[in-house]
Amino acid sequence: METKTAKLLDGKAYSLKIHEQLKSAIAQLESIVGRPPGLAVLMVGDNPASAAYVRNKERACESVGIASFNRHFPRETSFSELQSVIHSLNDDKRVDGILVQLPLPPDLDSVALLHQIAPEKDVDGLHPLNLGRLIRSEPGLRSCTPAGVMRLLQEYSISLEGKHAVVLGRSILVGKPMSMMLLEANATVTIAHSRTQNLQEITKNADILIAAVGIPQLITAQMVKKGAVVVDVGINRITDQNGKSRLIGDVNFEEVATVANFLTPVPGGIGPMTVAMLLQNTVNSYQLSVNS
Ligand code: NAD
Repeated sequence: METKTAKLLDGKAYSLKIHEQLKSAIAQLESIVGRPPGLAVLMVGDNPASAAYVRNKERACESVGIASFNRHFPRETSFSELQSVIHSLNDDKRVDGILVQLPLPPDLDSVALLHQIAPEKDVDGLHPLNLGRLIRSEPGLRSCTPAGVMRLLQEYSISLEGKHAVVLGRSILVGKPMSMMLLEANATVTIAHSRTQNLQEITKNADILIAAVGIPQLITAQMVKKGAVVVDVGINRITDQNGKSRLIGDVNFEEVATVANFLTPVPGGIGPMTVAMLLQNTVNSYQLSVNS
């Protein structure tokens, strides 16, 4: 019988440590600045998953002392209305971070809307200026999910230099910035995507394998090199045989745990790290605005 060997990369536990660090940093700064950091999350429509994510972010903000300026708009809200809300938040001195909860209803141009956010308040790191800074290795706000992956790997002292890192997925939200961050850390990076052929040949050669696809349990044991580090970014809601709904990742956890050295769980891996990086980015913007 195969035994479990992989060590868990515990994003939940580490994210709580980051929350504690941020809480004490905020407590110190607030007495000097005279206000807490502020985050505005904008949500349009009634997507239940988005609503759950927004609630989660609001709770996390509250736990560390970040003020929430969240706004919820009906589905039929126009682009120009949302644009003017973003512009007024750009000018609002109490707000250090602005995030538009994605996905937006299909008739709204989300890219054009994200471009309205002032780059210094773009805590999701999706503005072209911040993405450009990432490509140039300049300081700037970094996308939360890949930044969360990097922080978690660092926490477990996983070295990336010279390692072969394979990223599955090439989205602007995860795959592309993830690849750039790994490159910045001197890994040799391969990006695989929906048109990649012979996926298993590529994944089998990965020292570090990052799955950000959105296909439940796509990654099986035979696709993973023995001793690899496997990071599961995927979040997929499935209904099991008992009719119960639960979240699973892109990695077949039970199988892959028998070959990998390190593995993230879903839930409790990159999800909480993403929220921790959102709080961190908000506090970074707050610090910069205080110093400027
Ligand atoms: P996306 O749909 O924008 O991109 C998916 C990517 O997967 C695409 O680039 C596509 O080319 C690639 N792909 C599709 N089929 C493939 C295959 N068979 N083999 C290899 N690559 C394939 O999704 P996204 O926004 O990048 O998110 C990916 C996953 O990560 C989703 O499950 C999402 O829910 C999850 N996610 C999690 C967090 C978090 O906080 N943990 C944050 C963002 C996204």
